[in-house]
Amino acid sequence: MSIPFTNIKQLFIDGTWVSPSVGFEAIVNPATEEIIGEAPVGGKVEVDAAIAAARHAFDTGPWPRMSMDARIAVIRKFKAAIVSRSEEIKALLTAEVGAVYMLMQSAQFQGALDAIDYAIELAQRIAPEPSPIELKPNPFDPAGGDIFAGGVIIREPYGVVAGITPYNYPFFLNVVKSVPALLTGNTVVLKPSQFTPFSALLLGQIIEESGLPKGTFNIINGGPEVGTLLTSDPRVDLVTFTGSDKVGAAILTQSAPTLKRVYLELGGKSALIVRPDADLMKAAGTAAFSFTLHAGQGCALLTRYIVHNSIRAQFVEIVKQIVSTLKMGNPADPSVIVGPLIREAARQKTESYVEKALAGGARLVVGGKRPAEHKRGYFFEPTLFDDVDNRSAIAQEEVFGPIGVVIGYDTDEEAIALANDSRFGLSGAVMSTDRAAAYRMALRLRTGGVSINGGTGDLFVKAPFGGYKHSGIGREFGPAWLNEFMLDKSITYPLG
Ligand code: NAD
Repeated sequence: MSIPFTNIKQLFIDGTWVSPSVGFEAIVNPATEEIIGEAPVGGKVEVDAAIAAARHAFDTGPWPRMSMDARIAVIRKFKAAIVSRSEEIKALLTAEVGAVYMLMQSAQFQGALDAIDYAIELAQRIAPEPSPIELKPNPFDPAGGDIFAGGVIIREPYGVVAGITPYNYPFFLNVVKSVPALLTGNTVVLKPSQFTPFSALLLGQIIEESGLPKGTFNIINGGPEVGTLLTSDPRVDLVTFTGSDKVGAAILTQSAPTLKRVYLELGGKSALIVRPDADLMKAAGTAAFSFTLHAGQGCALLTRYIVHNSIRAQFVEIVKQIVSTLKMGNPADPSVIVGPLIREAARQKTESYVEKALAGGARLVVGGKRPAEHKRGYFFEPTLFDDVDNRSAIAQEEVFGPIGVVIGYDTDEEAIALANDSRFGLSGAVMSTDRAAAYRMALRLRTGGVSINGGTGDLFVKAPFGGYKHSGIGREFGPAWLNEFMLDKSITYPLG
């Protein structure tokens, strides 16, 4: 059966479909290793053309100068065109990303629609802000009467935005990078991960239907070389990137000579602190769910379990039991809970961390190898380690595979110190029936978000999301989301 959108053979530049100068790359379904399509790959020629188109559309085109209402009307059409293709997009996400049914329905797909709605809501609130009227003596002309003046602060689009996305939530992040930038009047060049190009290229068909002026939104596919060209080109004003901290640091360097604004949403190694008074079933369930979700391929997943020594043995046992009930397999089967890793290289990297953990003295509780029953597909068994040293590689580095580590502690102070002893700071969690104690801990965690006893779960896209330390610079979502794509301008004038 052919997978929707995998027959797209061109890149979307300046409102037209363009054949790639570099060639084509086979894209495989990570659950079956079957080739689902040959994706077009661009290079210098396409980067140059896409930036030129976005620059021209920004400098001379109608989009930045249209009213907010007019732009919102186009983005509503964009959303309607996505909704009309819901089933095809979901089928692609299953095959291209290997996302299991529950995840594909929620964060991967519905999350994108929720993000569009929220961005529109925020765009409707953007208005010039009057500054207070000033009435005061003129220091340069004391006899000349008072200064009587006012002003207004307006927000203007930033310019040409380069959006660069990873493979793990590709459709969601392609929408999240593009829609707020577009709503605020910027023009965009989007570069998806080379592993998941169709989740971006399909947006070209949607743009055509939505009535975005040509050149406003361009989509090119390619690997690090294309990303490097995009982030070092002087015609690009702003880079919004989601991916690893290593590439994030490279992007800062690449974009420094041309002084771009750069937003980075990076990786994590987030801690779940389980206090001795925690609901143990809930804590163990959260842990088991977290390191196996999307086979561990999530930035904000809780993968480090800092568990009070009095309950650690029980916690480990319950997590082990839960994990052994999770069905692994092809996400095309909606009852599957654990899907594959994106590629063989990701599986080898996960294996290498198992070796490092064992060499470092950690105790393997469950998993640790390729599942014997899945000969095809890049599957890896959910793997839990206990007796882990927080300074070891398995506790400090982002594996991006289904591995969780348990670290024991005796005092609250020790738990906080262990949680904060990480170069990352994306998310975190505390489980305790003493909610005040949990809240006190939350205040001391150096992370962009903390959930207590599972959080409320309903702030997705409405709460600011982003990292401390190596987990990023800037925030996505939340009330200030759209400000990141605008420049403040003060206009002052005399009143009389
Ligand atoms: P990656 O950093 O390897 O690649 C991300 C993107 O950057 C890809 O499109 C890639 O082609 C591009 N790229 C690579 N080198 C580049 C360069 N020198 N210049 C410009 N672009 C370059 O990440 P990945 O493996 O695709 O995704 C996993 C990573 O993403 C994990 O670290 C994960 O934590 C992170 N992530 C973070 C968030 C978040 O919101 N904080 C969300 C999802 C994923």
